Amino acid sequence: MNICETCGKQFEPNRFARRRTPQRFCSRKCNLKKYRTTEQFKKNAKLYRQLYRQGEYYKKRKREHARELHRLVIEKLGGKCQRCGVIDERILQINHKNGGGSIEFKKVGPFNLYKQILNGKRQTSDLEILCANCNIIHKWEIGIIQ
Ligand SMILES: [Zn+2]
Ligand SMILES: [Zn+2]
Repeated sequence: MNICETCGKQFEPNRFARRRTPQRFCSRKCNLKKYRTTEQFKKNAKLYRQLYRQGEYYKKRKREHARELHRLVIEKLGGKCQRCGVIDERILQINHKNGGGSIEFKKVGPFNLYKQILNGKRQTSDLEILCANCNIIHKWEIGIIQ
């Protein structure tokens, strides 16, 4: 009988396995569980995560996810330009009526801002949907562009 290093249970070692050292774990699951706590594993996991995030697949998924959130936010805020009524979401933007949009965008990040709007944590009375053209006109009107 051996004792598993992870779960502490006694187990019958596999008599057919050819190994130089005694079997330390009762199962593959317990072996993995222990391995996941080692520095080596954490280092590898970090590396793989970095590589994954540099990959095209991840970037594409992230873009799609952002687009989807953007679409949902637009839908929640009326689904069309509040001035001219355009509904093409490729040119619709979330506008801060009193300005300061780019500051909030930088501070919380677009992802979080979208999420906060969708789950109701960010109130939306100072936000409106404008198309790109009407947004520029709005910026002229409140003096951001002169
Ligand atoms: Zn075990
Ligand atoms: Zn418009």
